[in-house]
Amino acid sequence: MKVVFLGTSSAYPTEKRNHVAVLLKYNGESLLFDCGEGTQRQFRIAKENPMKISKIFITHWHGDHVFGLPGLIQSLATSNRIPSLEIYGPTGTKKKFKEIMEAFKIGLPFKVKIKEFSSKKPVKVVDEKTYEIYGMNVNHSIPTVAYFFKEKDRKKLNKKVLTKYGLQDTPKVKPLLEGKSINVEGKEIKPKDAVYIEKGKKISVVLDTEFFPDLTEFVKDSNILISEGTFSNKLREKAREKGGHMTVKDAAKLAKKSKSKELYILHFSQRYKNTKELEKEAISVFKNSKFAKDFDKISI
Ligand SMILES: [Zn+2]
Ligand SMILES: [Zn+2]
Repeated sequence: MKVVFLGTSSAYPTEKRNHVAVLLKYNGESLLFDCGEGTQRQFRIAKENPMKISKIFITHWHGDHVFGLPGLIQSLATSNRIPSLEIYGPTGTKKKFKEIMEAFKIGLPFKVKIKEFSSKKPVKVVDEKTYEIYGMNVNHSIPTVAYFFKEKDRKKLNKKVLTKYGLQDTPKVKPLLEGKSINVEGKEIKPKDAVYIEKGKKISVVLDTEFFPDLTEFVKDSNILISEGTFSNKLREKAREKGGHMTVKDAAKLAKKSKSKELYILHFSQRYKNTKELEKEAISVFKNSKFAKDFDKISI
């Protein structure tokens, strides 16, 4: 599993930072969270292939998160892409998407499935064989949602136990994974002796919201928490005035309270030429705070 930060700025792009877009690569799938202006070019620079995107998750329809969408869809449409595309977003997403297609006269040679939702509690929006994605409303000036990706827990065979009984990972041991005991030379091996659960990883994406208590439960125990942190704590009033944003201290507080393992902050105001001041602030609250840069890649 890999996370690629394609854009880490907020309302304005800077010399070093593009508008927000986060790519999650998992099991041959490419999942894109938000698509700020210029995201297609960021894909090219990062040496990632936008044609492989299977699902797009929109947090909200503010321009800095979606201005790259018409261009991306047009490129997908003119490149003979065949697989269908799924788009997820807050209520209103179907209408907005239709308007884009009409405004730019984009004809789609592939199917697009759009799922829009509004829910104050976490709701499952994707259920695949090996992972799930949940969404929930957050507090911003327009309908906005946050997401988390959760790999399903997996049953694994304890190699040490198998070796002890002279067994290899062969069809003979398969019943153990199905909850059945097996017999080896008259000895019964029960699933509880040889099978353990490997917990799936959780990656949360929280963009454009103010901090509120339910958010902590939503992102609880994230392996990676990707969160906005638009301003420093000095500008916490501005963060509220600007329609509901978090400071980097809020993001760090969220990581700490939710017992997340690692925090990657992004969506910085263009006023910060570097993140030194912000880093001190976040790390004083949550040690494992990192400041994402465009094209940073993390393997999980
Ligand atoms: Zn934004
Ligand atoms: Zn916004």
